Amino acid sequence: MKVNFNKIPTSGRELDYIKKAMESGHLQGDGAFLKICEESIGKITGAKASLVTTSCTSALDMSALLCNIGAGDEVIVPTYTFVSSVNAFVLRGAKPVFCDIRPDTLNIDETQISELVTNRTKVIVPVHYAGVGCEMDTIMDIAKKSGVKVVEDAAQGFCAYYKGRHLGTFGDMGALSFHSTKNVIAGEGGALLCNDPSLVDRAYFIREKGTNRIRFVEGKIDKYTWVDYGSSYIPSELITAFLAAQLEIAQKLTDERVAAWNYYRDRLAPLERAGKITTAKIPSECKHNAHIFFILTESAETTKALSAFLKKREIATNSHYAPLHNCPMAKQLGCSDRPLPVAEKLAKTMLRLPIYSSITPDEQDWVAESVAAFFGEKL
Ligand SMILES: *Cc1c(COP(=O)(O)O)cnc(C)c1O
Repeated sequence: MKVNFNKIPTSGRELDYIKKAMESGHLQGDGAFLKICEESIGKITGAKASLVTTSCTSALDMSALLCNIGAGDEVIVPTYTFVSSVNAFVLRGAKPVFCDIRPDTLNIDETQISELVTNRTKVIVPVHYAGVGCEMDTIMDIAKKSGVKVVEDAAQGFCAYYKGRHLGTFGDMGALSFHSTKNVIAGEGGALLCNDPSLVDRAYFIREKGTNRIRFVEGKIDKYTWVDYGSSYIPSELITAFLAAQLEIAQKLTDERVAAWNYYRDRLAPLERAGKITTAKIPSECKHNAHIFFILTESAETTKALSAFLKKREIATNSHYAPLHNCPMAKQLGCSDRPLPVAEKLAKTMLRLPIYSSITPDEQDWVAESVAAFFGEKL
């Protein structure tokens, strides 16, 4: 049985809404659907302001501008993440300081952050890997004590919570992604959550090319002007029309994924008890969104062979990030100065199994039984 790694979710209303947007004659990025999306994201997350953007990468770029990052500033980030968590700050001249990760969640190891803080540190960037919250209490304590800002990369964290609060709403800002590979999608899209009210005005200016056009749209001024740094970070109505249809079923999509995630965990439990694989351990403070189901094996060779075995059975799997501190760009920037052993090991031994909202128990049985077959076991 062929099992895709991912299948995009649909609510069935996407085309209706895109048609509506076209009929409205207003396709630029400040129309009715943008408003609908921002209200919906605000309701779900509880953020003070939710600005939909062209991507999570754009939202992170905006956050770096809002933090006034400049040459010589340092930014603490986990090495096990997507490049955008880092590039946003590097673009403004900052130097990334990479931190190792926890073996249970693959999130930043919060116990190692304090020792990385210097008087040049400007921002800590926790990345909520797989939609499982980082240890935000500890991270916010460190940030407060050292007077640094926190920008949460919550690209994978939509509809996921830490201690009952939505991911991306703990730090000064948070960034969400609606990329086609995420749980709720717009093809390409994202949002900047602003939790510090003093940043909100500038965030709107920066999103609209550094102008106060928002005031003009609101009818407060009759001519808009250049007031800040900025770029083109606002998505078209075609995108927000699609996203609006997805946001209506965000909770349903999350519930379906969580059910699939729990099904894998239960089906694979015998293999875990037998010591063949390890799965993620979700801290009790976290209500995750099942963005990723990964397994770890005891060696890179085993994981590679398992992936090839599953491929022969038409089951698509994926590894994930190459730790950034060992990438060519990190070497060029001179910030790969020390080994980060947990990330280096787990990056090679982890494998992501197929998961999407519409995956069926039959498909999951086939995946789980195939993983067992690789280890010569029967479930
Ligand atoms: C997907 C992802 C991004 C980038 O999101 P885009 O919307 O594609 O820009 C950034 N960080 C993490 C952790 C991601 O998973």
